[in-house]
Amino acid sequence: MIVILKKNPNERQLENLIQWLKSLNLDVHLSSGVDTTILGLIGDTSVVDIDLIRALDIVSTVKRVREPYKNANRDFHPDDTVIDVGGIKIGGGHRVLMAGPCSVESEEQIVAIAKRVKAAGAALLRGGAFKPRSSPYAFQGLGKQGLALLKIARAETGLPIVTELMTSSQLPLFEDIDVIQIGARNMQNFDLLKDVGMTDKPVLLKRGLANTLEELLMSAEYIMANGNGKVMLCERGFRTFETAMRNTLDLAAVPYLKEKSHLPVIVDPSHATGVAALVKPVSLAATVIGADGLIVEVHNDPPKALSDGKQSLTPDAFDDLARSVKDLYPYAYDLRKEGVL
Ligand code: PEP
Ligand code: MN
Repeated sequence: MIVILKKNPNERQLENLIQWLKSLNLDVHLSSGVDTTILGLIGDTSVVDIDLIRALDIVSTVKRVREPYKNANRDFHPDDTVIDVGGIKIGGGHRVLMAGPCSVESEEQIVAIAKRVKAAGAALLRGGAFKPRSSPYAFQGLGKQGLALLKIARAETGLPIVTELMTSSQLPLFEDIDVIQIGARNMQNFDLLKDVGMTDKPVLLKRGLANTLEELLMSAEYIMANGNGKVMLCERGFRTFETAMRNTLDLAAVPYLKEKSHLPVIVDPSHATGVAALVKPVSLAATVIGADGLIVEVHNDPPKALSDGKQSLTPDAFDDLARSVKDLYPYAYDLRKEGVL
């Protein structure tokens, strides 16, 4: 980090600033020119509150040379993180399909879908039990019963389950869940992130509806700084001026995140587009651009789905998607092979 001071800084204030920075275990290099005085800070500057320094009388500007995240940063962890979910590996060249309904609706529904997506080659079963709905009058999910039904589907198929946690008080119910999903609406629920960070469960962290990639990485950092390194980043589109689709997908986020971070990157083509017919082409593009996995909504009877039917694929359409996606694995962009890393 570089701190550029105003002309002729007050000496006592400068000394106080230097002492304070040193107390944060940083090495401080002072260079005084005729017009400008600069402080170079060496060490773990992720602990420094940049706005606090900026606000000081003697400071003109502050520039970060390094990103404010450390645990999630590729610079500090050059090797890809590979997450193991009950023997299924994700990241570091291991690609997966996660699939299932938006919401768990009944035993019959979830078991039938689980069998179909497994047969198509999905490695994990998704399904919401606690649902973050825009309307309080919409179906809110089966809650605890939904989790029980997911476990029945897991017992029948062997597929590990990924399901959304909305609040810390639900955590005891998630002890036997394989992957905790943090939804877009909770990406910056920092207390929830800290609590999930204190578990040892793999986490699928979805990008918020209006969040930058740096904010996504800082949210991953919250989980990791609390001890849980098993984080997958999920790009699922966000709000823009465009209304033709449910969200606008940021496909370039995939290679960007993979360069900046060692964490696996998953793409959700279903929430990104909101339109079933667009899910396959977007999945193919996400695969070629290097995503470590896809999370796709599949329903046995989409028109009758209790949530997100419009974007849900039939099991037959998912069969077709899975075949086409797997055919593209050998062509997936790989930053290491391309010499970017
Ligand atoms: C979901 O996966 O069903 C979901 C609600 O996702 P998001 O948080 O990305 O909207
Ligand atoms: Mn959904």
